[in-house]
Amino acid sequence: MKIFVDFDDVLFNTRKFVIDYKKIFKSYGISEKIYDKYYYNYPVNKNKSFKKYNSIMHVREIGKNFPINARKIEKDIDNFIKNTRKYIFKDAYEFVSKYSKKDLYIISFPKIGFQEKKIKNSGMNKYFEKSISTSGLKSNVIRELIKEKKIEKNETIYFIDDRLESIEDMKKKNPQIITILLGRKEGRHKYLGKGNSDYKAVNLGKVLKIIKKNLCVE
Ligand SMILES: [Mg+2]
Repeated sequence: MKIFVDFDDVLFNTRKFVIDYKKIFKSYGISEKIYDKYYYNYPVNKNKSFKKYNSIMHVREIGKNFPINARKIEKDIDNFIKNTRKYIFKDAYEFVSKYSKKDLYIISFPKIGFQEKKIKNSGMNKYFEKSISTSGLKSNVIRELIKEKKIEKNETIYFIDDRLESIEDMKKKNPQIITILLGRKEGRHKYLGKGNSDYKAVNLGKVLKIIKKNLCVE
C-alpha cells in the first residue's frame, strides 16, 4: 500500500498561514490591494501562463512603487517561513503514526522554493518516504513512479487531496487509485458533491477509518 497526501489544506492549515503571511505586509502599511496587485506581477512572470510566486520579487516590486523597507520585510518573511510547524493540523500527526514511513508520500503543488521551504520547515518530511512538489499534474508524478518501478502497478494506492480538479484528473488517468476528497471546515476549497472521487472525508481521522475499512474488505 502507498498513500499520497497533498500538503496544503490537507496536512497544513494554509488558510491560517496565508492570513498570518499577509499580516507581515499589513504591519508595514501595505494594503491587501497592493499585496494582491504585485503578488505575481514581476518580470519573470511576464507573459507566462503559469505564474510562480517569489516572496523577494513580490516585496521588491512593491518597493519599486511604494516607499517601504524591503530588506526588513524580507527578513520578517524569512523568520516567518522558518517555522511553519504550528500550521500542521493535529490529526496529521495521528495519521502518519498509523503507517510506516515507506508507504507515505507528500505530493504538493507547485514546485517553487517558497512551497518547498514551507513544507520542509513544517517538520513533516521525516514522516514521509518522499516529498514531491510538482508544477504539473499530480497524476503524472504517480505515473512516473510506477514507470520507474518505485511503486508496484498492482499495489493499492490512495490519493488524498482537497482539490476536486486534482482528484478528477487522478481518477481519470489512473482509475485503479483510490481517491479521497478531503473537505475540512478550515480548508479554502469547498465542494458540494464529491465528483468522481471514491470517498469524501472531513478530516484525516475519517480518512484513517476509510482506509482501515478498505483493508478489512480486501
Ligand atoms: Mg491542497
